[in-house]
Amino acid sequence: MAKLASPSDLFGGGYTGNLLAPQHNREKVYAWFQKKHEFGTTLIDPDGYYVSGSHSWRVPYGVRQAMSVPLVHSQIVNQFPFAVTWISPKDGRRYKKKTMHLISAIHLIATQVQYVDPTASIIARSTGYTVPPKLRGKLPRTMNGHMVYWCPHCMDARRFRRRDDRTFYAQKKFWSAEKQRYVWKEVKLACLYCQVCGISNQNMKFRVSNQPYEKVRIKSGVRRVGRKRARAR
Ligand SMILES: [Zn+2]
Repeated sequence: MAKLASPSDLFGGGYTGNLLAPQHNREKVYAWFQKKHEFGTTLIDPDGYYVSGSHSWRVPYGVRQAMSVPLVHSQIVNQFPFAVTWISPKDGRRYKKKTMHLISAIHLIATQVQYVDPTASIIARSTGYTVPPKLRGKLPRTMNGHMVYWCPHCMDARRFRRRDDRTFYAQKKFWSAEKQRYVWKEVKLACLYCQVCGISNQNMKFRVSNQPYEKVRIKSGVRRVGRKRARAR
């Protein structure tokens, strides 16, 4: 690592684009990225604000949750696992700037982009995040007259809209009054797309995040393993 002029030298190797070059696919390099990622959390105050000089920006809850968990493999081998996106007031078009770390995306919004578009947001490009524990079972819901869903790549609640006539089949939870519990049913659904990052509601993490959540209660004294075995017999 010491011989490298910049972390970007870890990537590409001249023929692999933005992927981690094979010779750097080592534990030490992985640890460096995790450490850098962890360090980011120390720059956010207890109220969720990132402050740099005279700039300050409230980091969304979902982004803070993403910072509190380690990076996954696909985020380390990708040079730009995150991006900042905003709409320019000049031409009304959406722009994106890829970043190497979550904290660099936060810094970019806090110091520049929030002044161009106050609704600027961060996108997790290489992997999505399922809904954080605090918001489980609370989405989708109506906010300001619109239905919002948990977007795994925006790490926030977002509007999803139709773009074409596509439909698909998926399992969905429905409350059964008769059984007094949720049951899964296969239903035909319209394809919806996130207005900010573009993912669809077919995304696996979207599907698990936007469902009613139930707490599994385990009675004391009952060993679940034993019960399973008994049923198998
Ligand atoms: Zn999104």
